[in-house]
Amino acid sequence: MNHQPFETWLLDDKVLTPAEKRELDTHLRNCKTCSALAETGLALRSSRIITPKPGFSMRFQQKLAAQKLVERRRRLWGMIVFIVSGVGLSSWFLAPAITSLTSSPVEWLITAASFFLYLFSSLQAIGDMFSVMARILPSFLPPYAWMVIVSGLAGVGLLWTVSIWRLSRRTQGVTA
Ligand SMILES: [Zn+2]
Repeated sequence: MNHQPFETWLLDDKVLTPAEKRELDTHLRNCKTCSALAETGLALRSSRIITPKPGFSMRFQQKLAAQKLVERRRRLWGMIVFIVSGVGLSSWFLAPAITSLTSSPVEWLITAASFFLYLFSSLQAIGDMFSVMARILPSFLPPYAWMVIVSGLAGVGLLWTVSIWRLSRRTQGVTA
């Protein structure tokens, strides 16, 4: 049996005219070899639908690279904001100490002493607060929740203490 041109059509995945399609269908009905070939082609085509389109992996990689760039830029900005705010905050806190240190060392010593006294009494107050809270709050909270609460409150309390101390120092400086 002559399998041409049907074999070539099937193998090349040729786009057939209606007349060619009719011819092929007639041949396929009589030829097991070509109908098997047609079925294989059909199976290949349907599996080709599942496999990604050409350029998919390239586009995916490009998207990934773009995402990485955005992420890196975001991380860089985060770091810049973190550093700037950190420097700003620490200079805000340290400015009175530095200025008093340059103006007079004795006054700086008194300032430092008053700061540590204030810090100490504040920490005592915070400690009292904690003990009261520990008595009041139910003790069935899981330990990690306690860790989170205590560390968060300690950080806030320290910041609060320092800022209040700084404000009181400034007021004293104005009235003196
Ligand atoms: Zn055939």
